[in-house]
Amino acid sequence: MQNYKITLLKGDGIGPEIVDQAVKVLDRAADKFGFTVTYDEALLGGCAIDATGVPLPDETVAKCKASDSVILGAVGGPKWDNQPGNNRPEAGLLGIRGALGLFANLRPSVIFGPLKSASPIKDDIIGDNMDIMIVRELTGGIYFGERGRGDDCAWDTEKYSVAEVERIARVAFDLAMKRNKKLTSVDKANVLESSRLWRETVIRLSAEYPEVELNHMYVDNCAMQLVRNPKQFDVIVTSNIFGDILSDEASMIAGSIGMLASASLSGGKLGLYEPIHGSAPDIAGLGIANPLATILSVAMMLRYSLAQPEAAQAIEDAVSEVLKTNRTPDIYEEGMNKVSCEQMGDLVCQML
Ligand code: NAD
Repeated sequence: MQNYKITLLKGDGIGPEIVDQAVKVLDRAADKFGFTVTYDEALLGGCAIDATGVPLPDETVAKCKASDSVILGAVGGPKWDNQPGNNRPEAGLLGIRGALGLFANLRPSVIFGPLKSASPIKDDIIGDNMDIMIVRELTGGIYFGERGRGDDCAWDTEKYSVAEVERIARVAFDLAMKRNKKLTSVDKANVLESSRLWRETVIRLSAEYPEVELNHMYVDNCAMQLVRNPKQFDVIVTSNIFGDILSDEASMIAGSIGMLASASLSGGKLGLYEPIHGSAPDIAGLGIANPLATILSVAMMLRYSLAQPEAAQAIEDAVSEVLKTNRTPDIYEEGMNKVSCEQMGDLVCQML
């Protein structure tokens, strides 16, 4: 029987509560689909600072590297807000992404039917099955380029190599092949030289994926199209800075922050899976956090790192079904059962 080694980085605030529910669901999926999971826990963020003095202990990196995948809750909180910048919980987050070579960030924007009313976009515009996947380059571009200051000026540099564009585009083409075979590459090739290289490289690579319908869109147009007609998109691939902005925009189309999953991939099997929300210190320990973003991140892990697509689909279907009548307080609507974090985890397990 296939066994997977998963490292859990529960982190701070609501991190431990939501990861516990995700583990429960993963164990249930393992029973149902005939595989086993062994877990190892490691420290990241504020809890790591408290225990070891640093947000990312070497032991954590070693454990993550030795596992098939990593599930992360969230890090940070007011307790550590006065730490110096390079020793804050969030530095641990950037550190682990770098240490694991996670160059591709995947952010799905999916509307679950029962939650349609939570979207700020009109019903007829989002339709019944809006499902966009944004693939953002995570370790290059302007966030990592040369920067500096003169007497009365400052600069940041956008630089991409052909190899960097190729590896992120390959992730996006491969994903499109597993989905609806449509890829939109977003750039600013009418102005930026780096975007022209981006576009040329994507076009060249497209020869290897004749089944994928490729189109190109300028980033300003894409920002507009996402709210005008989001149904037109399947997979979007873009640079670090454009992806940062567009993925936040697209994720809000789906409604609540407690529902949004993400994956960061290294090109190999190992990935890091986490909700996009933070540690929600305002509700930590109250048992009311929404665990669904973390549970849906586990579904992404099953699909993209562990090659268990049926288990992934079953979890997503179970979440959709449970949402018809049950809600945590953040997504509560009149007439629904109001449930706790733990109850939500139990309900998804039962539905599975
Ligand atoms: P946040 O996402 O933690 O919270 C924003 C709001 O959303 C809060 O009202 C919170 O209660 C609510 N919320 C978030 N997740 C929820 C959930 N699962 N269920 C129900 N409600 C939820 O953002 P913030 O308040 O700006 O940041 C809090 C801390 O988290 C900070 O220290 C910040 O640096 C950190 N942070 C960490 C990550 C991460 O670990 N990836 C990401 C963002 C922020």
